Amino acid sequence: MRLQFWGTRGSIAKPGTKTTRYGGNTSCVEVRSARGTLLIVDCGTGGHSLGQMLVSAGAERLRGHILISHTHWDHIQGIPFFAPLFMRGNEWDIYGPQGLGQSLRETLAGQMQYAYFPLALDQCGATIRYHDLVEGAFDIDDIKVSTQYLNHTALTLGYRLEADGVAVVYSCDHEPHSRRLATGRGNVTGQDLRHAEFIDRADLLIHDAQYTAEEYPAKVGWGHSSVEYVVKLGQCAQVKRIALTHHDPLRDDDAIDRIVAKVRARLREDASSLDVFAAVEGQIVEVAPSLAKGSPRRAGEFAAEMPIEPAVAERAVLLCVGDRRMAAALSADIRAEGIHCKCVLDADEANRFIANGRPSLVILEHDPPRIHGIEMCRAIRQEENDKKHKVPVVIVAAHEDQALGAAAGVTDWLIKPFTSAYARTKIRAWVLRTACRWMRGTIPEDEERRLASLRALRILDTKPEDRFDRITRLASALFNVPIALVSLVDENRQWFKSCHGLDVKETSRDAALCAHVVHDREPLIVQDTLLDARFADSPLVTNEPRIRFYAGYPLVLDNGACVGSLCVIDTRPRSLAPADLARLRDLADLALEEIAGQ
Ligand SMILES: [Zn+2]
Ligand SMILES: [Zn+2]
Repeated sequence: MRLQFWGTRGSIAKPGTKTTRYGGNTSCVEVRSARGTLLIVDCGTGGHSLGQMLVSAGAERLRGHILISHTHWDHIQGIPFFAPLFMRGNEWDIYGPQGLGQSLRETLAGQMQYAYFPLALDQCGATIRYHDLVEGAFDIDDIKVSTQYLNHTALTLGYRLEADGVAVVYSCDHEPHSRRLATGRGNVTGQDLRHAEFIDRADLLIHDAQYTAEEYPAKVGWGHSSVEYVVKLGQCAQVKRIALTHHDPLRDDDAIDRIVAKVRARLREDASSLDVFAAVEGQIVEVAPSLAKGSPRRAGEFAAEMPIEPAVAERAVLLCVGDRRMAAALSADIRAEGIHCKCVLDADEANRFIANGRPSLVILEHDPPRIHGIEMCRAIRQEENDKKHKVPVVIVAAHEDQALGAAAGVTDWLIKPFTSAYARTKIRAWVLRTACRWMRGTIPEDEERRLASLRALRILDTKPEDRFDRITRLASALFNVPIALVSLVDENRQWFKSCHGLDVKETSRDAALCAHVVHDREPLIVQDTLLDARFADSPLVTNEPRIRFYAGYPLVLDNGACVGSLCVIDTRPRSLAPADLARLRDLADLALEEIAGQ
């Protein structure tokens, strides 16, 4: 993998005599895989020169991808000046974190409104596709991209790129979750540990390092890391090389030199093999696979390109804050995100709401003796017992106590004082995460052959037929369930040849329980979706048709291709006796005969 830094400055472009060596342009990194896939991470003012270079290289029909960490100016200001977007024949995919209520495209169009810029976003000549991302994984050609929310004042994604046997992580902008850790003290725990797992054994970590530990106390809540934190995390995660970036606009070249010299001296004292450098505008880095490579990171189970809007819409946040002004401010923040907010003041009421209202997030204040959030969290965890889906609990407190919090089952902290932007970002991230825990069915190994067999049947998008409808009617009556389907799993959707008790003709494949049957080629019986971590937060469970019980039998053609399933669905939990499974098989066989006898 080959990288080039086109912008290494944070916050605002800073040209001038004192920044000539490290550069004055804001965040932009060009990444190319050995196979030539072009990926650009962030498009700050550095994107302008990169665009000029791409145009002067003269490639016709340029194809590339832009990953945006977040839409603060210093990460997107190059987009209106990125020439390849304005040339016909070029094709660009732009990716960024999915907001609540506003799409990436709308946000980017915002900076190109008439008052700010002479050309509108839709006047770009190139074909541009926009992708709203959540936490998860997806592929861009030969590059595997994993995403994780960072700790910043706006919803921000870190990107882990894996290709050619190497892993590169881009993590800008990010503030340590633990304020203690930001000053270089304490252990890597809680959400910082999660961050360390994200950067685990990266061959190159490109990380926001805007401040030093000394400066940090005056910059708490600004959303950026200290150099000391980045190095500590890199060591903890056994990273090979670190590129410090997002240099503070007030830091001149000599000051950056001093910081790097100090870090290196300390690493030498530790006899550490970690290589740390400050990213230079224009610098090229070749990342080669290292010999002692660990096991590759497990593929994300959730697709990062998932539309989660409907799953989020009905969610609630449970708020338990004694300080009235803070409670009012937080509930205003929650509502501003379009999420319901339920305020309670005691543990019993909280537990009742968690059981019945299934909130996405619980926020508890810890300010004893007035209000004891940690105790309440312990009570919530006791009530949850061994449930697979534990609700995330964020403690609002003046100080963090990681050990006490971990013992009580605390998920995250919101340390006072905090800004509204910070609180909103944290709430967003947790609500989005909760909406994304369900699993999509994996693509089977014989997918191409399977799709060819399915399409050869010429059954997709045909009209309803009674020979199928009578099977689903029988299934519904036999099992006494409201819904029965003959579902065929196409490339991106499940399409119903017959749907008894359901108004829709198809749903996305990602949400389909039948997609699991197609992959496993075995019957799938889910007695209660809410108790099954794979499905509890699926949009088909949290929204219409509110699936609680599911039993599906695979439809396998004579040539071995599994094209779909016959399934019965209820909106109440239930069980299926062995004799019932045999009946379901009989009905599936009937459906199969009709399918094969087209
Ligand atoms: Zn920034
Ligand atoms: Zn930012």
